[in-house]
Amino acid sequence: MAKRIRSVRCPVCRKAVKKQAPDFPFCSERCRQVDLGKWASGAYVISSPVTDISDAIEDGGPPDPGRKS
Ligand SMILES: [Zn+2]
Repeated sequence: MAKRIRSVRCPVCRKAVKKQAPDFPFCSERCRQVDLGKWASGAYVISSPVTDISDAIEDGGPPDPGRKS
């Protein structure tokens, strides 16, 4: 039987990655962090709706004079 090893490439730097790599599908932890950075930099904005919900809850409540902010 012939084993076919499909080469997978790191989505960040396009370097070939082994499936056994600890950071698969990234070639290294560094590339994994780069990919996470895309999310943090606002490429995908998902935080706005969550903020709106918490604002609505606070607006609906009675004012608390003892609250420290
Ligand atoms: Zn990489």
